[in-house]
Amino acid sequence: MEAWPDDASQGGQRVEPAGAAAEVEVEVRGTGPLPEPWRNWQQVTFPPRVRAPLVSAGFPAPTAIQQHSWPMLTAGRDLIGIAKTGSGKTLAFLLPIFAQLLESRVDLRGPPAALVLAPTRELAVQIETEAKRFGETAGMRAACLYGGAPKGPQLAELRQRPQLLVATPGRLNDLLEPPPGLSVAVDVKSVRYLVLDEADRMLDMGFEPQIRKIIAGLPKERQTVMFTATWPVSIRRLAADFLQNPVEVRAGEADELRVNPDVTQHVVFCSDMRDKEERLDKILRESGQDQCIIFVNTKRMCEMVSLRTPHSMAIHGDKDQRERDLALGNFKRGSMRTLVATDVAARGLDIKAVKVVVNFDPPNREEDYVHRVGRTGRAGQKGTAWTFLTNEDGGAARSIADIFKRMELQVPAELEQRLASGEMRSGGGSRGRSRSVGPRRMGPGFDDDFDVGGRFNG
Ligand code: ADP
Ligand code: MG
Repeated sequence: MEAWPDDASQGGQRVEPAGAAAEVEVEVRGTGPLPEPWRNWQQVTFPPRVRAPLVSAGFPAPTAIQQHSWPMLTAGRDLIGIAKTGSGKTLAFLLPIFAQLLESRVDLRGPPAALVLAPTRELAVQIETEAKRFGETAGMRAACLYGGAPKGPQLAELRQRPQLLVATPGRLNDLLEPPPGLSVAVDVKSVRYLVLDEADRMLDMGFEPQIRKIIAGLPKERQTVMFTATWPVSIRRLAADFLQNPVEVRAGEADELRVNPDVTQHVVFCSDMRDKEERLDKILRESGQDQCIIFVNTKRMCEMVSLRTPHSMAIHGDKDQRERDLALGNFKRGSMRTLVATDVAARGLDIKAVKVVVNFDPPNREEDYVHRVGRTGRAGQKGTAWTFLTNEDGGAARSIADIFKRMELQVPAELEQRLASGEMRSGGGSRGRSRSVGPRRMGPGFDDDFDVGGRFNG
């Protein structure tokens, strides 16, 4: 019998989950029998080889989304999971897949039985890493397919006969037809588990046609899981088309509604670029050694800010895979203090222990604001977010004020006063593009090199 982290203290009694999970409100909707959640490790009935790595990880309790997803998926249900970033969604879908593969009669040396689609290569690699870390004991092999890197080595990985394929929609779609000169194509005809991770982001990035094409080639007899941070009409349509009688699990407020209350949010009014730079330097000086992510809207700005910021690297859609891995690796290890990023490059990354987020350019959409600010204040730690606003950023300013109000926080006096005075404008100098702009667009800021991502990441 394995020792579970909470075995000693609980002595077999039913105990409410520890930590954040206890405070998250969960709403479950669905028809048909709905299994009870697995609220603590004792109730988690995965096979020992799937449970073992969880024990080693020493997590205090399953997160809210895991408590509900694990029994539902184990019971074979299709599932829609709506939960914020950092809530443990990756293991929420991976472990039931592993458990079911072990217990089924699937030929584990056959073609991939599980497919995870993710919006960006970073995210795909991160899922693959988590799959390897938590699936190795169970003999699970994973391969990763993403754009922006040569196809050959990725196809070679397929010869290791992975059961799990993690892919960005663009690259997988390309590989479903054998590339010229390569005799192998990716075989998805045996996929019985399909996961759409960060589905809303994939649609934002324009991947819907590729996703639909990929799913059309999968067996109808399969379990389908969709995770999303938001719940717009386009996502509901996708769910209606591809999921069968899904259970809907909503853990906490949808992401776009509020910011983690552990993050202190500031707005800083800047007169011009020079002013922004001075403010940035001051923030970096005053935050000592704390790790920091600086968000910008364009690739050009990303390079500019990184060039003048010591111990920093830039990640955006034009960086090749090696550069992005290097920057991310250095940052995660703590050997580099500051990461300068566009939304595309940073979305969904699991970066721990960032104390400071600076929105050097204000985000274009409310959900980007929430995602950016959500890079800090993770796992109960305190964080600080600074958003630089100029008089051109009226849209973003109004949205931030709305977020404060929604969270019942005091709107900063200067923000309120500037909005009331009418001196803030939206739309300053932007050549607006229609692409990937949702209804919650926050302001202007689209630029020639606005990092919209799909074409770089697929
Ligand atoms: P999401 O996909 O919801 O943004 P991730 O799956 O990337 O979140 O998980 C974020 C981090 O939390 C990862 O480092 C993961 O290993 C960790 N984690 C997963 N499950 C738990 C748990 N039950 N308790 C604590 N940490 C967990
Ligand atoms: Mg995730």
